Amino acid sequence: MRRKLIAGNWKMNGLRAGGIALAGDLAGKCKAEAPNCDFLVCPPAHLLISVAEAIAGSGVALGGQDCHTAVSGAHTGDLSAEMLADAGCGFVILGHSERRADHGESSSLVRSKAAAAKRAGLTAIVCVGETADERKAGRALEVIESQVRESLPETAPEAAEASLVVAYEPVWAIGTGLTATPSDVAEVHGHIRKLLIELYGNDTGSAIRILYGGSVKPGNAAELMAVGDVDGALVGGASLKLEDFWAIGRSCP
Ligand code: PEP
Repeated sequence: MRRKLIAGNWKMNGLRAGGIALAGDLAGKCKAEAPNCDFLVCPPAHLLISVAEAIAGSGVALGGQDCHTAVSGAHTGDLSAEMLADAGCGFVILGHSERRADHGESSSLVRSKAAAAKRAGLTAIVCVGETADERKAGRALEVIESQVRESLPETAPEAAEASLVVAYEPVWAIGTGLTATPSDVAEVHGHIRKLLIELYGNDTGSAIRILYGGSVKPGNAAELMAVGDVDGALVGGASLKLEDFWAIGRSCP
C-alpha cells in the first residue's frame, strides 16, 4: 500500500518571516493531528535552512526545487544535490515544466540530475506532462511516455517508495485553475505505472509513487486522490495557504 505524498512547491514565493510561519504552522498541525499522508514542502533555496528548523521533529519533509548534476564547482547560482541534503532536504523536484520551459531543460539533463539526487541520497520527484497542443493533437500519452523513458534513472531505484517519485503535471493545468478529468488522470497514471513496471520490474515499479499536479485545490482534491494509481499531489498555489494545503492532505482516503 503506497502512502500518499502531498508535496508543496512554493516556487519563487516567500520571504523569511512568512515562509517560516507557514512551515511552522504546518509542522504544528502535523504534530497535533498525525495526518493520513506524508507532507513535503519545497521552499525557495534561501529558506531551506530556516524551514528545516521550523519543521524539525514534525514528520514534514523538506525538498529542493532543482539541483545541479555536479557535486561542486564553477556553476554560479546553482546548488548541488549534496548541498540540498546538507540543508536538511530528503527530496528534490526535477524536470518541472517551468524549468523545462524557462531553462530549456531536456529529459536527458533531468535524468543526469536524478542520478545526482540518488548519489546524494535524495528522493527525486521527476515531473512529466504534455502541453495543451500535444493533448489536442492526441499525443499526450506518447509525449509522457518519452519523457518517462528519457528522464527517469536507467537503473532501478534501491528502495522504490523511498527514492523515486514521478509527478504527472499536464502543463496546461499548472497555475491555470484547469484540472485534468479523473478519467484522463486514471489513463495517464495507469500508463506511467505500466512503464515503471516495464522499466524496473513488478515489485519496484508497483511501489513508486505517482503524484498528480495541476491546480489541485481543496475543492477537487478528494476526487483526484481517489483515482487509482494517484499516490498524492504536487501542489503549487494552494501550498502557500495553510488551510488549503492541509485540506488537500485531509482529503486523502
Ligand atoms: C506546480 O507548481 O507543480 C503546480 C502544480 O502548480 P499549481 O498547483 O499552482 O497548478
